[in-house]
Amino acid sequence: MRKHIFNAGPCKLSDSLLKNTAEAILDLNGIGQSILEVSHRGKDFQAVMDETVELMKEVLSIPTGYSVLFLGGGASMQFAMIPYNFLKTKAFYVNTGTWSKKALKEAKLWGEVVEVSSEDKNYTYYPKGYDIPNDVDYVHITTNNTIRGTEIFEDLSVNAPLIADFSSDFLSRPVDVSKYAMIYGGAQKNLGPAGVTFVIIKDSLLEKVVADRKIPTMLQYGTHIDGGSMFNTPPVVNIFAVRETLKWVKSMGGVVAMEKIAKERAELLYNAIDSSNMFESPVVKEDRSRMNIVFVMKDKYKEKEADFIAFAGEKNCVGLKGHRSVGGFRASTYNASTMEDVQALVNAMKDFEAKNA
Ligand SMILES: *Cc1c(COP(=O)(O)O)cnc(C)c1O
Repeated sequence: MRKHIFNAGPCKLSDSLLKNTAEAILDLNGIGQSILEVSHRGKDFQAVMDETVELMKEVLSIPTGYSVLFLGGGASMQFAMIPYNFLKTKAFYVNTGTWSKKALKEAKLWGEVVEVSSEDKNYTYYPKGYDIPNDVDYVHITTNNTIRGTEIFEDLSVNAPLIADFSSDFLSRPVDVSKYAMIYGGAQKNLGPAGVTFVIIKDSLLEKVVADRKIPTMLQYGTHIDGGSMFNTPPVVNIFAVRETLKWVKSMGGVVAMEKIAKERAELLYNAIDSSNMFESPVVKEDRSRMNIVFVMKDKYKEKEADFIAFAGEKNCVGLKGHRSVGGFRASTYNASTMEDVQALVNAMKDFEAKNA
């Protein structure tokens, strides 16, 4: 039996991805070779890459004038590549927690960083209604705070190129891509296995590359646009698996359907948390993530947290331990997560409370 997997990343992936990727590892398209054994420049893999890029454009309704790239290095490499390429004097960062902070740290190597932050309240809300200086090279946001469980559901209009780390809520709602100069993320939360990074970049952003800076070839976006994500050998299996996710999302009804299911899953779990006498959510209601549902035990039950993790495990609910920097619990309910998964967790919470409260 498949467990109810609530891991934050790597995380639950669709059954069709697992099955079809396993088959391609044994024999790609019945050609008598594994996908691990073909040339990435041969026609069989080129077809996989082309279809993956086309499906990304289709599923996310990406307008013309954008390139879709699959790179190495994770979202963490993007934290460095973005300022390396685009930060001339000043950038604006919205700091919503651990990941934004890591992005911000890299930016400070290259220029001044103006920051708005929710650190004052332990990152339990998403900053809104701030002013952005007129002279920034770009604005950087993290749309979903994977660790603290906050999320922004709106595509902002700002007066500078908007760059967004969408690692943990990618494809969970329709996005107006035209509002962004760049969208990026590690694949391992909503898109596929760890080891590939997606980058959707507006081609005109390349005009903003800092002119007099010497940037290593591999760290220039232009290199990868020109090379069709094959300047060097791409992670072929990961890209194949990403294609399977995109096909699956499309077959399920696309990002509109993903958003509907995400809302249903989150509502079921947040309602259970809010109506409980044992559990509570530290996050302000309007900013609660649909992807990473963070909750804790009320003070008088705190010492029972480990017991609940064990109890939920017996009910096949795994991956619930909160991030080591926060404690408590985190149920990550990404696209492949089902209502059955969430219902199993809600049942475990109710049973545990009935026995222990
Ligand atoms: C997981 C995560 C990252 C880090 O991704 P890597 O691919 O491991 O570098 C960055 N940003 C967010 C929002 C994440 O959830």
